[in-house]
Amino acid sequence: MEENIVKGEEIQRKIKLNLGQLTFEALKNYGDNVLQVDAETDEILTASLLLKQGIRLATFLKEHGVSHGDTISVISENRLEVCLIAVASFFVGATFAPLNPDYTGGELNHALNLSRPKIVFSTPSSLSKLTGITTNHTDIKLIVVFGSHESKKFLQGLDDIIRGAENDEIPTTFAIDSYDPKETVATILCSSGTTGKPKGVMITHENITSCIEILTKVFLQMKKEADSDSSDTITGITPFFHSFGFLAMYLHILRGKRLIVFKKFKPKIFLEAIAKYKLKALVVPPPLLVYLVRDPLVKKYDLSSVKEVYAGASPLNKETEMELKRRFKLRRAGQSYGMTETTWAVIATVNIEGKSGSVGVVLPGMMAKIIDENGRALGKNQRGELCLKGPMIMKGYVGNKEATMHCIDKDKWLHTGDIAYYDEDYHFYIVDRMKELIKYKGFQVAPSELEDLLVSHPSVLDAAVIGLPDEYAGELPMAFVVKKSDQEVTSEVLQEFVNKNVSPHKQLRGGIVFVKEIPRNQGGKILRRILKDSALKT
Ligand code: AMP
Repeated sequence: MEENIVKGEEIQRKIKLNLGQLTFEALKNYGDNVLQVDAETDEILTASLLLKQGIRLATFLKEHGVSHGDTISVISENRLEVCLIAVASFFVGATFAPLNPDYTGGELNHALNLSRPKIVFSTPSSLSKLTGITTNHTDIKLIVVFGSHESKKFLQGLDDIIRGAENDEIPTTFAIDSYDPKETVATILCSSGTTGKPKGVMITHENITSCIEILTKVFLQMKKEADSDSSDTITGITPFFHSFGFLAMYLHILRGKRLIVFKKFKPKIFLEAIAKYKLKALVVPPPLLVYLVRDPLVKKYDLSSVKEVYAGASPLNKETEMELKRRFKLRRAGQSYGMTETTWAVIATVNIEGKSGSVGVVLPGMMAKIIDENGRALGKNQRGELCLKGPMIMKGYVGNKEATMHCIDKDKWLHTGDIAYYDEDYHFYIVDRMKELIKYKGFQVAPSELEDLLVSHPSVLDAAVIGLPDEYAGELPMAFVVKKSDQEVTSEVLQEFVNKNVSPHKQLRGGIVFVKEIPRNQGGKILRRILKDSALKT
């Protein structure tokens, strides 16, 4: 064994099918199992309906020239239609690229330039934003809007395509092209990685099938330990355009289990659903767990069914973890750590007796190491950059070899940009971030994107953006701004300027501070640590 490399348990890879084939077989088997329930409308989606609609939509996609290698996008909050579009994309071997419905026109433009979809599905509320920029995207051949719509050359209604599918016969076989799971890209999700603007993360079919095999092993172990399965029904509240939300949703479909789908976090609906469906396990980002221990409304609901919570996408602080366990008498408050670039969680609390504050242990089939500035792998209790390797590491950033090479080295180690250590029992702790990324409620905010925007304002000479620690949101984007010498501008004016140009999670909620200069090193790199320390002092 190489020195100071922490390996998860060995795993024998068995799945040879691609996701289209795997999904077809799973949906055929699960018949009338309810796979998704809309928390607001109680609308349900069964496996057989999803299969019939999926075949209809896949046939439609093929008729419109979509095949292996093409990309399909969807702009939507969490709705039952999203999994249908993913299923149909995988049936035809197309890449599925979900997008944040809160994107501004400019952000949407950037994201569409990365994934270059042939057909874009959209909720009616995002339609005008989308049609406003389609002239820039000649790859887009058709827009399909949720619901019914008068059929036009470039615009159709999703309901009109799938209407009556419930009466279709389920075929025993369906011609799913056999494409190479190792090379074929299943999803493109946006992430800024360790530096720069959002990039398109290519996750292959094999990345996802590896994830399925790894998690199956973990679930079996957890079930044995807990002596019951808490995951029959789980929450689908993390956005499906984020890897944590999308894979929790898709893997649940492949398991034939029920997901309660929340369009947005609305406290009453969320709490009512937990009580109504007697949810035993919550899969949620940490801000929701902070909410559960802080808000007085929570006490009005019977949440005694909840036995396990799984947090992901950003850090869960130790106090919240302890308070949750105490208040809800949980047997498990598990954390998980991963990146969009690692498909899903690759380090997670597996045993009931996880260690408080730790993100858990390396999952089966994966490897981790902590390196110092010279790339040397460090031993126990030594802090350094966390690097990961194994079958869940992305193929790369779409159309950006340079960024891929910056992130994945020649020995296939992904450099996470997170600072971590592992203890004597190989439990990992994330302690800081050396990369530029800010996480607001689990959402990524790339400082460089906000800095570029700020310096595009006529009164701004220079700018730096950092994450101000916040108990509820994790971090709040905060800007340090240098004004041009002959210009006067207020923080309100700049806030308004930023708000107009970015989606809500990127707004400068941490405030704007005017300074004489931005501290930089000799290479011109912003010294963010100095700015963060000064923000914490005030
Ligand atoms: P994303 O690609 O949006 O999932 O963001 C990945 C980044 O979120 C990681 O590189 C970490 O900086 C942060 N992150 C995710 N999970 C955790 C966790 N459990 N604890 C601390 N940071 C986390």
